[in-house]
Amino acid sequence: MKLTGWGRFPVIQVRGQSFNNQEALSDYLQSADGCVAHGMGRSYGDSALSEQVIFTRRFNKILSFDPQTGIVVCESGVSLAELIDAFLPRGWFPAVVPGTKYISVGGAIASDVHGKNHHKVGCFSEQVLAFELMGPQGEVVRCSRRENAPLFHATCGGMGLTGVILRAELSLKPILSSSIRESLIPARNLEEVFRLFEENLAATYSVAWIDCLAKHEHQGRSILMLGEPAEAGLLTLPSAKTWTVPMGLPGFCLNQYSVSLFNYFYYQLKSNFVAGRLVPLEEFFFPLDKIAHWNKLYGRRGFTQYQLVLPKEASLAGLKLILGRIAGAGLGSFLAVLKLFGPENANYLSFPLGGYTLALDFKIQNRLFPFLDELDRIVLDHGGRLYLTKDVRMSREVFQKSYPRWEQFAQIRELYRLTEKFNSLQSKRLGV
Ligand SMILES: Cc1cc2nc3c(=O)[nH]c(=O)nc-3n(C[C@H](O)[C@H](O)[C@H](O)COP(=O)(O)OP(=O)(O)OC[C@H]3O[C@@H](n4cnc5c(N)ncnc54)[C@H](O)[C@@H]3O)c2cc1C
Repeated sequence: MKLTGWGRFPVIQVRGQSFNNQEALSDYLQSADGCVAHGMGRSYGDSALSEQVIFTRRFNKILSFDPQTGIVVCESGVSLAELIDAFLPRGWFPAVVPGTKYISVGGAIASDVHGKNHHKVGCFSEQVLAFELMGPQGEVVRCSRRENAPLFHATCGGMGLTGVILRAELSLKPILSSSIRESLIPARNLEEVFRLFEENLAATYSVAWIDCLAKHEHQGRSILMLGEPAEAGLLTLPSAKTWTVPMGLPGFCLNQYSVSLFNYFYYQLKSNFVAGRLVPLEEFFFPLDKIAHWNKLYGRRGFTQYQLVLPKEASLAGLKLILGRIAGAGLGSFLAVLKLFGPENANYLSFPLGGYTLALDFKIQNRLFPFLDELDRIVLDHGGRLYLTKDVRMSREVFQKSYPRWEQFAQIRELYRLTEKFNSLQSKRLGV
């Protein structure tokens, strides 16, 4: 069968198998080589692609829930959407959610995803108490910060390269309402949005939409969005209504002119200060989920998301250079996001480090990869790194220089005899 990530590039031929019980997966693993788990395929690049792919979505049971503590035990193919459907009406919500709820718990752990509250609570792994992991011979080990700790820290953020997560124990957080109090603050340029992030460190959620094509005195103009959980209200699930992107939209619809125009009007539309309006939680966290198949917007060749983080002290200088290059080349899209992260955690390959992260989509075209190689240089020169779950083309050199704990990760792979058994197109490219 043909398979691809969310960016629809590359498309490869794989042998895929779907499992819903531990015994069958264990038998399979004893004879399989070169395989990787695949959850909901929301990673953009090639981290969930391999010659043999293990589909985990049928590991879909919620096994237990303690209404006193908010601790839920579920199988790894359960999605965040399913957890929200089950527990939001009872006043519980995942403590960390990314920009889509259509990801599996296994995928959330393997990418150690972050949300708009990283500066306050860190990554998804912070709410993971323990998980069960199936190893290369089909054996199951329990991992937590106390049991098999090296394997725990290698698996959180380890991009499926340490085995198949079967079940996880997660801590949900209590909520009083299904609304968020949202404030919007326009910023005229990068300096101003940095200042606003710093002034709003106490905000529970913060993220900025940034106009990646604005130049000169407007460079980095942004809309900072802040959010606080509403203090009281109803606990209702939103409507499931979605819009769909027309099939086969030609890639040329998205070019520097349409993007500049969109960015200009979006900024004007949102440039009025808004203080504390109530918005449904889903609208605040998952605006893109309203548009089904929006990844087809970029045309037949697909797209990639480039997400970088720079240490705080190097962020202003580095981002000015990077935004300058993007605007100069006329590349980049309207989905550009800026966020200030809190400190790095103890996992070997988790992406966040204390500083600013910029994420933006690029349509695949001939001149793109050489251009991104230039951006990589700037990222490296400023002590930053790229997010593995978005990556599809980073070089081995860039990876090894920017993830200083990659060798320890590789040693754990050797120690537990994982190297031959679990790999992806990405792990082969990166040499890990
Ligand atoms: C619209 C959109 C917005 C996003 N916003 C954010 C964001 O704000 N923050 C953020 O951090 N990420 C974000 N992401 C990325 C997304 O959260 C991650 O890529 C996530 O890992 C996808 O989960 P998945 O179930 O689709 O996993 P897949 O894409 O199927 O797999 C991702 C990785 O997890 C591994 N994996 C999956 N299941 C298992 C398992 N059971 N055991 C072991 N390994 C496993 C795979 O091998 C692969 O390496 C976004 C993605 C989209 C499409």
